[in-house]
Amino acid sequence: MRDLDYLIVGTGFSGAVLAERLSSIKKKVLVIEKRSHLGGNSYDYYDEHGILVHKYGPHYFRTNDKNIFNYLSKFTKWRHYEYRVRTSVDGNLYPFPINRDTLNQFFNTNLKTEDEAKEFLKTKIVSIKNPGNAEEQILATLGKELYEKFYKNYTKKQWNIAPTKLESSVTARIPVRYNTDDRYFNEEIQAMPLNGYFKLFENLLENIEIWFNTPFNKVKNDLEYKNLIYTGPIDEFFDYKFGKLPYRSLKFVHENYDKEFYQNWVQINYPNDYDYTRIVEIKHATGQNCSNTTIVKEYPSDQGKPFYPIPTKYNLALYKNYEQEALKLKNSYFIGRLATYRYLNMDEVVKNALDLFQMLQKKK
Ligand code: UDP
Repeated sequence: MRDLDYLIVGTGFSGAVLAERLSSIKKKVLVIEKRSHLGGNSYDYYDEHGILVHKYGPHYFRTNDKNIFNYLSKFTKWRHYEYRVRTSVDGNLYPFPINRDTLNQFFNTNLKTEDEAKEFLKTKIVSIKNPGNAEEQILATLGKELYEKFYKNYTKKQWNIAPTKLESSVTARIPVRYNTDDRYFNEEIQAMPLNGYFKLFENLLENIEIWFNTPFNKVKNDLEYKNLIYTGPIDEFFDYKFGKLPYRSLKFVHENYDKEFYQNWVQINYPNDYDYTRIVEIKHATGQNCSNTTIVKEYPSDQGKPFYPIPTKYNLALYKNYEQEALKLKNSYFIGRLATYRYLNMDEVVKNALDLFQMLQKKK
């Protein structure tokens, strides 16, 4: 292979953004992708019923960072859409994240202001000085009843470990509100790529050479390159020398219905019933106009493609060993959710990729 400046492994947001940026400054880049499609876990496609679906679970784009949004806007138009989710508890649907309406509906109260909601929650929360795990984090902000009904079983189902073993950052992803804002996220910009993620990735990677169905291990000894950008699971890169890093996966069960919408919300969570965690009807967010619909039930699983790092103390310590090894390698950069073992959102991944590009640009 010719004189490559960069070999980039993976076509998710990390790999695609870096490939685009580096080739814009005339670096010779080759991208390899072990799957047969672009986009990593953000990939979407039209299913056999003509519905645009997210193959690896819903990807709700949101950010507060205008630079990131402007950068991506060179490759896609957007459909502004605020994601709204409900949680099903004992047969009733509640706004989620928990807000004042959730409190009033659940506790049968009539709280009218943010202060009233705060005061009310003070009577419910458990006093914990430094919440050290997911369970304590919720007990300290919402108390036992809400924890038990909205968080405990969902978290067990999703991660298959006790919430006391999970880092508090996992549940702290979900805001708690004293007002009646029922959006899933707080970010200022909430939008879906107008023609889907796949098109966005096609535009990002236009004119860049990509080898599909090409795992890094298959070609690593045959290719010569000055720099490596690796976005796959970091433990795989090092042949699991310190042991396997657990990643959580999901199995998706798709169902198509011959009606415009199946449910009123893009996502309904089922913490306490069923083996699936949620039903997503992505059509609400994509805005597709058609007479049928596809929904997806998500069943958490230990088996399958890696989607989520599992942030427990043990796993994070194990990751540190790999990180140390990675730092010893010259001209090799590990980036993204799988390679840095961090529960990153898409905008954070794009930010990290743009930051790494800045750094690489300065490199001689
Ligand atoms: N969570 C929960 N109940 C819910 C939704 C989320 O307990 O109804 C917890 C659960 O531990 C989950 C975490 O909050 O893994 C983060 O949820 P989020 O919706 O951000 O997860 P993602 O969409 O990334 O799977």
